[in-house]
Amino acid sequence: MSNLDTTRVQSVAQSPEKVMHKLVSLAKRRGFIYPSSEIYGGLSSCFDYGPLGSEMKKHIKDLWWTSMTRKHQNIVGIDASIMMNPTVWEASGHVASFNDPMIDDKTTKRRYRADHLIENHIEKLRRDGKEEDAHRVSTYYERASEAGNPNKAFYDIIIAEEIKAPDTGSSDWTEVRQFNLMFQCNMGALAESSGAVYLRPETAQGIFVNFHNVRESSRMKVPFGIAQIGKAFRNEIVKGNFIFRMVEFEQMEMQYFVKPGSQEESFEAWRDERFNWYIESLGVSGEKLHWYKHDKLAHYADLAYDIKFAFPFGIEEIEGIHSRTDFDLKQHQEYSGKSMEYIDQATNERYIPYVVETSAGCDRLFLALLCDAYTEDVIDGEPRVMMRFSPKIAPVKAAVLPLMKKGEMSEKAAKLRDELAEDFLVQYDDAGSIGKRYRRQDEVGTPFCFTVDHESLEDSAVTVRYRDTAEQERIDISKVKEFLGVKLV
Ligand code: ATP
Repeated sequence: MSNLDTTRVQSVAQSPEKVMHKLVSLAKRRGFIYPSSEIYGGLSSCFDYGPLGSEMKKHIKDLWWTSMTRKHQNIVGIDASIMMNPTVWEASGHVASFNDPMIDDKTTKRRYRADHLIENHIEKLRRDGKEEDAHRVSTYYERASEAGNPNKAFYDIIIAEEIKAPDTGSSDWTEVRQFNLMFQCNMGALAESSGAVYLRPETAQGIFVNFHNVRESSRMKVPFGIAQIGKAFRNEIVKGNFIFRMVEFEQMEMQYFVKPGSQEESFEAWRDERFNWYIESLGVSGEKLHWYKHDKLAHYADLAYDIKFAFPFGIEEIEGIHSRTDFDLKQHQEYSGKSMEYIDQATNERYIPYVVETSAGCDRLFLALLCDAYTEDVIDGEPRVMMRFSPKIAPVKAAVLPLMKKGEMSEKAAKLRDELAEDFLVQYDDAGSIGKRYRRQDEVGTPFCFTVDHESLEDSAVTVRYRDTAEQERIDISKVKEFLGVKLV
């Protein structure tokens, strides 16, 4: 029997500015995310996942992997090496053009993307009705962008137009410099340039270079996909916002190889599927998800959309869906000298497949899930913090709480914990009042608490308490495992 009283729980309005601060603190205190190498002062934009964070991240990756590979007969997974033959990055265009033009403000020591400053300035001129000026600057800017080294021209525009830093209003500018976002390291004993290799800045290239290996070994026919979860590294100059922009992060990517001409249809199907995955599999609030269509496309793309999430600090990308044409396979064909053609056995047609890619960031998604779940409410007149995670991603699935620390009650509870622990991450907690123990579990998003009390010794039943509503009901102890199995699907 449910004894829910709906007036027990009241939600509390929160200020979005404070949410990030509270989340960062909760994440550390409860073992989700720590600053990397903290005892040495940390390292900018590097973070470690703690016991609960690593558990939850694993759930996210498992859900993605299942939805992309097991549920699709024609998609298989790989796990490619982080370091690759350096020619891969010449072929992909990363060595030549994975650069950002950066400018520093000498007074505030802040760093900005020079191209972003100019683009925003042009937009502002337009908004202010100064179309002629906007046209003049934009023509000069476009010509400069196409030139081999635009840094000097970018600098000249910033100075001539008296462009100021958007956040501080300062304009004590250095020169503009190009920063390649790839990390370079040396392979072998000697630090010679011939031994230089890169940490991959995206997982996609590991898939492209394995196109034929996977096709042959798995007997795949176009259309088919290759999925991968793995680390990527970018020497991001503009950092910040906790784990939103990191230098070492994990991508969950799938490249879908299609016949040229069918990419648009495939693109639309993936767009739908990926958007719905966030809502249906992860329980993300649909109203916080947004589409963004790219007008300015990357050199390899003929269509691109981003899925964005409404973070407390703004609406930002969590996944990119790109129609990448045959650019990558063609480049690898040219640079490796190996054919990347596909021969359709049924029709004898030969072509280089087009690629539709879905590229999600696991860490950004983790942050989105933290933000989405963070809830402050008042329960029975007492404030509480609760992470309203979907049970599927909640790190701790259940807590077992004996009312007494010793005796038969705790023995029964320990037995239940051991049984559940075979399949789920459960916590056993006998410290403090039962109310305090509930709060501890609410704060890490544990969806169910099972309390073993005096009555349990008589009727072999326990009280299950639901996190979101604080609703409680009795359930036979022998049914608890089955109950969790059903609730966590
Ligand atoms: P942004 O414009 O935010 O830098 P991007 O367009 O360069 O991202 P993609 O190259 O499309 O990103 O990478 C796919 C996904 O990888 C992104 O949607 C994001 O979730 C994730 N990602 C990219 N860069 C980072 C980073 N520095 N830290 C964490 N996640 C990242």
